[in-house]
Amino acid sequence: MTVPFSYVRPVSLQDAMNQLADKTARIHAGGTDLLGCLRDGVFHASKVVSISRLSNLHGMRKRADGGLTIGALTTLAEVASYPAVMEKYTALAQAAAAVASPQIRNQGTLGGNLCQKPRCWYYRGEFHCLRKGGDYCYAAAGENQYHCILGGKNCFIVHPSDTAAALVALDASLRIAGPRGSRIIPVEDFYVLPEKDVTKETILEPEEIVTEILLPPVSILSRSSYRKVRTRQAWDFALAGVALVLEHAEERVKQSRVVLSGAAPAPWRVRAVEKIINGSSLEDDIIKKAAWAAVSDARPLSKNGYKVPLFRGMLEEELEKTKNRM
Ligand SMILES: Cc1cc2nc3c(=O)[nH]c(=O)nc-3n(C[C@H](O)[C@H](O)[C@H](O)COP(=O)(O)OP(=O)(O)OC[C@H]3O[C@@H](n4cnc5c(N)ncnc54)[C@H](O)[C@@H]3O)c2cc1C
Repeated sequence: MTVPFSYVRPVSLQDAMNQLADKTARIHAGGTDLLGCLRDGVFHASKVVSISRLSNLHGMRKRADGGLTIGALTTLAEVASYPAVMEKYTALAQAAAAVASPQIRNQGTLGGNLCQKPRCWYYRGEFHCLRKGGDYCYAAAGENQYHCILGGKNCFIVHPSDTAAALVALDASLRIAGPRGSRIIPVEDFYVLPEKDVTKETILEPEEIVTEILLPPVSILSRSSYRKVRTRQAWDFALAGVALVLEHAEERVKQSRVVLSGAAPAPWRVRAVEKIINGSSLEDDIIKKAAWAAVSDARPLSKNGYKVPLFRGMLEEELEKTKNRM
């Protein structure tokens, strides 16, 4: 049962932050994740602070430096269909289009997608697990078929957002407003691994709000993509996903960023793969080597070993496709 809470809709960022000074207040953007968490008792809130009236947080604009700024309240459907995103930041458009269902993409925002809570069924269920302040991870020896194979320690969630992997690959940053002013953080540094703090998914402090997603300018020789494998082709979270950004020159990879989703408690950048493919023409042996390197550090749990060959095969296919486009 949902515990009663008060609901406020501030019209200024400052007022929103003041409202969030109450430590059990929660931000409400599209509500597609928050309301489920409140209803299921994953956490409680004394106050829900809707940020929907903060008009500066809506919409996208091209910047003078050639980059793109996306307001945190821009919906996933808007992001997926915006021409400049589709053309220059294809991985992000594809990731946003791969999220959930049309209804959720119309209501869910990009900021909310990046800040959503994990989908571990023990965390979401009636289990007082480590992440909720308990002293045990039920997935470690339990039903762990959808859990992580990389980066887990004590807790084995996978990070749920498709767009986060694409944004790390695209080297995007977040503007975060807080009581002490605003700060800009690369998306790559936004997430917290369990080994650092098992009760936190992001570096956000309680009064902070993600206001903008900042995409750097892209070279005309850069191509990006996001591929997601799920158990069924209707709405579902990634079993395995990969975001690729490759800049090429003279049929060689000049530089690359490769990020896995569905693999770890945070979007998982695989620098070992980047090192292997940079400077190459993606010859068959290089692709094979890269695909193996992507999961060479994997430590599967009792029921998710299938993810290792799944990631290998997916990466091989994606690099093969990229080679044909170079
Ligand atoms: C059935 C279903 C299927 C789904 N499938 C997928 C999927 O395949 N891939 C995927 O990536 N996601 C999936 N999702 C998650 C969905 O994309 C998110 O629920 C949605 O993007 C959250 O956006 P929202 O605006 O509704 O956020 P809200 O529900 O309003 O907020 C989510 C969380 O983020 C916080 N928050 C929101 N905005 C901000 C902000 N600007 N600054 C700081 N904190 C903020 C809130 O306090 C809350 O904790 C699915 C969800 C459902 C219900």
